Amino acid sequence: MEKFKLFFSYVILLLVTVLTIQTGQTQNKYNQQAGTLNWYKGNTHTHTLNSDGDSFPDDVVKWYRLHGYNFLVITDHNFLTEVDELNKIYGADEQYLIIQGDEVSDEFNKRPIHLNAINPKYNILPQGGKNTLETLQNNINAIRKASGLVHINHPNFGWAISADTLKLVKNCNLFEIYSGHPIINNYGGGGKPSVEQIWDEVLASGKLMYGVAVDDMHELKEPWEPKAAKPGQGWVMVRAKQLTVEAILKSLKKGNFYSSTGIELLDYEANKKNIKITYKEEGHAKYTVLFIGKGGKVLTEEYSNPAIYNFQGNEKYVRAKIFDSNGNMAWTQPVFGE
Ligand SMILES: [Zn+2]
Ligand SMILES: [Zn+2]
Repeated sequence: MEKFKLFFSYVILLLVTVLTIQTGQTQNKYNQQAGTLNWYKGNTHTHTLNSDGDSFPDDVVKWYRLHGYNFLVITDHNFLTEVDELNKIYGADEQYLIIQGDEVSDEFNKRPIHLNAINPKYNILPQGGKNTLETLQNNINAIRKASGLVHINHPNFGWAISADTLKLVKNCNLFEIYSGHPIINNYGGGGKPSVEQIWDEVLASGKLMYGVAVDDMHELKEPWEPKAAKPGQGWVMVRAKQLTVEAILKSLKKGNFYSSTGIELLDYEANKKNIKITYKEEGHAKYTVLFIGKGGKVLTEEYSNPAIYNFQGNEKYVRAKIFDSNGNMAWTQPVFGE
């Protein structure tokens, strides 16, 4: 009997050991996968006291870190904020990255022409131009010369930038399709197109542009006025190998990200056959996935999770918009046909 007890204990010990090793292996495997591709949450448009924001860079950086962001681009108007010291303090654990930036704030005919320079080597001042397109292009060229990544901001702010102008822009494939700023006219109206309609018009012309959601945060301090440009409104989820400036910028440039105001994707896959989207479901919310084609035409409306779209072969491009019954949204990037 004693011998049996002892044997039994050995078996238990062996089982525990094997299980521990196996769990360890599973974890390593998972980490390896996570090591090759991770999702990083970031906001690419933020203001501080270095222009017309209401808070010090320190406080802004802290807020975004505290609220689960992995990276933040500080983009004050015509001002490049130093981020080395901020990274030493808030990014020391390599879980959070502050990227330097500058919102090049130009105008044409009293209409705002704003572009974000992400990680330029130096501050870029507004370049001007003889018309809207030239003003945009001169600034894009200047940002690229400073090795910055460019995104065009809030096209509907002051109704400054039309789809016809965006179609002609060269060497820039990113623009804001959603902004948390309260007076930039995301939704159009009065005969003017929404920013999303502008996106589809540009895409339908054959020009590939990726859509970015941002905060354009100005007011960090509570209580917030009803028209405050608050933090936490719109962001991007970038799929990258690691949290470095190079990897994040590379993925943004390649469209390896989605934009969101509150929907989280668990997986996104696009290949020659189909697009497959797996999203996180929360509480009692109901979800809809629209697969959208040329000119904004809804190709299919899906309620399943994952939602799958099989290419028919005649689409110019397909992109998806996911929304829930509480008004949260997410947008994936367009996939162009052959
Ligand atoms: Zn702006
Ligand atoms: Zn701004």
